[in-house]
Amino acid sequence: MKKHNFSAGPCILPQEVLKKASEAILNFNNGGLSLIEISHRSAPFVEVMENARSLALELLGLENKGYSALFLQGGASLEFLMVPYNLMKEGGKAAYLDTGTWSSAAIKEAKLLGNVEVVASSKDKNYNYIPKNFTIPSDVDYFHCTSNNTIYGTQIKEFPTTDGLLVCDMSSDIFSRQLDFSKFDLIYAGAQKNMGPAGTTLVVVKDSILGKTGRTIPSMLNYQVHISKDSMYNTPAVYAVYVSMLTLQWLKDLGGISAIEKINEAKAALLYNEIDNNPLFTGTAAKEDRSNMNVTFLLNDESLKARFDGMWKDAGISGINGHRSVGGYRASIYNALPLESVQVLVDIMQQLNK
Ligand SMILES: *Cc1c(COP(=O)(O)O)cnc(C)c1O
Repeated sequence: MKKHNFSAGPCILPQEVLKKASEAILNFNNGGLSLIEISHRSAPFVEVMENARSLALELLGLENKGYSALFLQGGASLEFLMVPYNLMKEGGKAAYLDTGTWSSAAIKEAKLLGNVEVVASSKDKNYNYIPKNFTIPSDVDYFHCTSNNTIYGTQIKEFPTTDGLLVCDMSSDIFSRQLDFSKFDLIYAGAQKNMGPAGTTLVVVKDSILGKTGRTIPSMLNYQVHISKDSMYNTPAVYAVYVSMLTLQWLKDLGGISAIEKINEAKAALLYNEIDNNPLFTGTAAKEDRSNMNVTFLLNDESLKARFDGMWKDAGISGINGHRSVGGYRASIYNALPLESVQVLVDIMQQLNK
């Protein structure tokens, strides 16, 4: 039986995507070869890469708007370094918003290359909220934020306006909600939270912002090099790109971001409503900043833990143990998780209260 998969990442993918992906391992497009044993320069794979890149831009509403989409390697974690390498001038400065573990990791890398001003941090309350009313200095090369904090269950609902460049790590909520993506100059996302398997990272960058730092950038870290080679400067992660493409196609067929956003809102409302109304549970994130992707909550009475854990395991639920830095539980309800799975969890929370 397929489990109800609430894993934070790598995480659930649509069942039909997994089916197509498994077929491609044995016989890709009926060509008598596996997808993972053909050249990345062969026509069938070049088409996969081109589809993946154009689907990403299309779904974000950024086609023909001067943006390039890249499928790189090294995870979102390498983007923490590539972003300052490509956007921070020699001796320059960047502003960062610190909303959790991943923002902090991005700040650490940026400091290797220049001055970093942390405009605000929610570390004082174990990152359970999104700081607001901060000022972004006008003399910075760019402002960086993390749209969804996978570990703490918070999400930026309104992005600040800035005169400079706006850069966002959208690893755990890309393609989950409608935003004016053209407000962003650079977006990146590791595939394994809401787009595909681990091994590739989507970078969407406005071409005109590149090549202005005066730095010598190593080839593999240089976005312009990857753009000039159509995201095939070196061998791409062919299988991860293919499965990401299938997931993007699945999302397009479903009606795109506006359609999935409604489903995501329904799932989040169902679960948060139970957390708020059930006296046995408490949500950990500030209400106005709650994530629609990662729902973090505590069981108030530890003596019920063994019973609750047994109940959800028996119901076929997997992956809801909280991250060690928050404790409790974290239900990740990404695009591919059906509403029915959330209902199974909610039913168990209600039974526990009887
Ligand atoms: C998981 C995650 C990362 C790290 O991604 P890797 O691909 O493992 O490097 C960065 N940012 C956010 C928001 C994440 O959720």
